[in-house]
Amino acid sequence: MVCSTSSNRAFSSLHDHRELWDGEYWRHIPGFSQVTQTEFESHQFQQRATITSVAQLRQTLGDLPGDAFYEDLSAGIRNAPMALRISPHLLSLVDWSNAAHDPIRTQFLPLRSRQQPDHPMLQLDSLAERKDSPVPGLTHRYPDKALFLPVDTCPVYCRFCTRSYAVGAETELVTEKLKLHASQARWSQAFEYIESKPGLEDIVISGGDSYNLRADHLEAIGRRLLEIPHVRRIRFATKGLCVMPQKVLSDERWTDALTRVAELARRLHKTAVVHTHFNSPHEIVGVTRRAMDLFVERGITVRCQTVLQNGVNSDPSVMQLLVKRLGYINIQPYYVYFHDMVPGVEDLRTSLAAGLDVEKRVRGTTAGFHTPAFVVDTMGGGGKRDAHSYEYYDRTNGVAVFTSPTVKPGKWFLYFDPLASLEPEVRLRWELPSEREAMVADAIRCAGGETRSAWQAIA
Ligand SMILES: *Cc1c(COP(=O)(O)O)cnc(C)c1O
Ligand code: SF4
Repeated sequence: MVCSTSSNRAFSSLHDHRELWDGEYWRHIPGFSQVTQTEFESHQFQQRATITSVAQLRQTLGDLPGDAFYEDLSAGIRNAPMALRISPHLLSLVDWSNAAHDPIRTQFLPLRSRQQPDHPMLQLDSLAERKDSPVPGLTHRYPDKALFLPVDTCPVYCRFCTRSYAVGAETELVTEKLKLHASQARWSQAFEYIESKPGLEDIVISGGDSYNLRADHLEAIGRRLLEIPHVRRIRFATKGLCVMPQKVLSDERWTDALTRVAELARRLHKTAVVHTHFNSPHEIVGVTRRAMDLFVERGITVRCQTVLQNGVNSDPSVMQLLVKRLGYINIQPYYVYFHDMVPGVEDLRTSLAAGLDVEKRVRGTTAGFHTPAFVVDTMGGGGKRDAHSYEYYDRTNGVAVFTSPTVKPGKWFLYFDPLASLEPEVRLRWELPSEREAMVADAIRCAGGETRSAWQAIA
């Protein structure tokens, strides 16, 4: 189904999961008003015209958002863990008549006026990936699967990135990032480690982003991993389908390389799939569907990992629409992550209670195998836990306690609701270190644990 190309109609008609915005949706952006369909749909244009500074943004958008917006944005960037990077495709999908509340603007363009102070229990590299890294850029936390980070760049920078400790350029807030450049020597170390661990059956190739791997590198990595006898499954993680679906259609070398890896996997009776990342139903338009149609023809399975975000998809009807729209274009919704506790993005987090309510309203709306699991990726390396599986949840103070018997038995893991979701007097308690300690200790006691191990778990 094709909608009108007039931007107002298109933005207001995004209610039905089958209504995908088509036509020349970039023409309302002053900098792209003369760009033809052929040009806009080439990955070279998408890469070349990707915006990485406020000055460039101003050149492209002109007066569309107004002066106050640029000032707010510049101040927001100074206070953000991630550098600015947004594709022409995504930029054109922002409703600039309502930028403050637009779900795509919210994810990629930080506004100072909307930022909130970080929760006092927050840590950088909140998931402690580096602690479980036997080789730089390889995280081995679960017995049978590992996470391989061949590159540290992406086609976009999400301001909420969990790997802001490594991904993207350094910022004023995060000045010393771990460097994980594409390096064959480092990759060889990772392959050798994987080879030496017969229990490893499942490798996630992430980053950074597999879109930023050269076609020949992507193919070499895929082949090398599939040829390891005990590796049964590989997945390429990429936000690319969301950021520039044009690449799938126009970068034949890259898409063919991925196709060959998927074919090799099938011949070896293994699987090679793509995991992608959509957060808003507005990110799925006609060209996204065409890219997915090609993947379907090539026999490439795609699953989606979504992040639950306040104002982006925290409204149950928006999450329902996203899940149905993903399913409609043959992307399988796999996970919805509660927002990790990373700096500078407190405004994007929701309480555990709010997310559990969204889950209840999504389950039952479509096929069970298209219904994502809502998970908390615990701070301190406990791994992903079903959000419903908490041992105890103190809704007043906003503290949830989890255990992780298969990954880190005997430890307690904590998730903290954003302060903005709590009553004013509770917020004041979080200001005081002794009160903090008491609230955490109480929650762990109620979960049946001892206080001391809790502080060890999050320390
Ligand atoms: C998420 C993750 C995986 C993959 O987990 P699945 O639940 O199988 O998707 C593997 N290793 C690490 C370190 C992870 O964070
Ligand atoms: S695409 Fe993924 S790894 Fe890259 S910045 Fe966004 S969340 Fe981080």
